[in-house]
Amino acid sequence: MEFCDLKAQYQAYKAEIDAAIQGVLDSSAFINGPDVKALEAELSAYAGVPHVLACANGTDALHVALLALGAGPGDEVIVPDFTFFATAEAVALAGATPVFADIDPETYNVTPATLADKITARTRGIIPVSLFGQMPDLEAIDRLARQRGLWVMEDAAQSFGASYRGRRSGSFTGIAATSFFPSKPLGGYGDGGALFVRDADMAERLRALLNHGSRQRYRHESVGVNSRLDSLQAAVLRVKLRHFDAELAHRQRAAARYADRLRDRVRVPVVREGQASAWAQYTIRVPDRDRVQARLAAKGIPTAVHYPIPLHAQPAFAHLGIGDDACPAAAQAAREVLSLPMHGMLAESQIAAVCLALEEVLP
Ligand SMILES: *Cc1c(COP(=O)(O)O)cnc(C)c1O
Repeated sequence: MEFCDLKAQYQAYKAEIDAAIQGVLDSSAFINGPDVKALEAELSAYAGVPHVLACANGTDALHVALLALGAGPGDEVIVPDFTFFATAEAVALAGATPVFADIDPETYNVTPATLADKITARTRGIIPVSLFGQMPDLEAIDRLARQRGLWVMEDAAQSFGASYRGRRSGSFTGIAATSFFPSKPLGGYGDGGALFVRDADMAERLRALLNHGSRQRYRHESVGVNSRLDSLQAAVLRVKLRHFDAELAHRQRAAARYADRLRDRVRVPVVREGQASAWAQYTIRVPDRDRVQARLAAKGIPTAVHYPIPLHAQPAFAHLGIGDDACPAAAQAAREVLSLPMHGMLAESQIAAVCLALEEVLP
């Protein structure tokens, strides 16, 4: 069994993907080819956001957006304590200071209350993460930010395809960043990412920053980065986008099956009223997690821990001197979470095998 079965997915779409890749090879338009423009238009229609800029990866998307938002030395940007490292890494790379907010222990996401706790005179913005595929309450977070004169950018790296009352992830904040890393809900065959942008002027600035600060060839208005999406990735992503709703529906059914079978034994994911998760991960909580994980591995069941170390405890941020008491819910989640196999090709029999093994090994 695979934790995220990219091989099965490739086999399912092989004819279309091979043809798409061959098309790029035949055109040899490897950078900024027609597939990149077409993908941007399709993502824009899908997410309901006027401007989409494809780029090299999700971390660059966050970093470049922070540059455009003017985050720099002396500024504080609030991020969740419980997320993938890149959210805070982008803040630090821009020269600003990441400040870690605690999470709602049920959804693993930040809340207006945990964020409000961390706002100071130096705070410039907030990056709420839609962890494991479910958005936080972005409307309430946006209200809080507006009251306090801050910007908000959704880190939608795990939530492309998620929705809240019919509106998609990426459309709730002025700028949102996503990732097409292979194991994300919409994954390419290498690195990739995108920015979702409401404002046309901001979109133009971001597009220049992603391309060496240049809009016109060999004329550079600012110092930017080289972060473009390959045409090959765009071609693969366009094929996968055509099948994406079916994959989301499959993940949704898999999540429901897991919950039916496991909710009496362990803490299963909580999805808030009106939210539809993209199910980037199916993450439960178990006592004695490391032992449960090892015993599952011995039975051939692959699992993963997202994430074993909260950001405040990362060696890279030791200089900030933040203790476990600052974000107790994040610290506890890091000790208990365990992600089960979840992908758009997961078979009923595999779900049954995971649940059976889990029931056998739980303390
Ligand atoms: C994957 C991920 C990123 C980074 O995306 P890359 O494309 O790998 O650079 C950022 N934030 C979160 C929450 C992620 O899960």
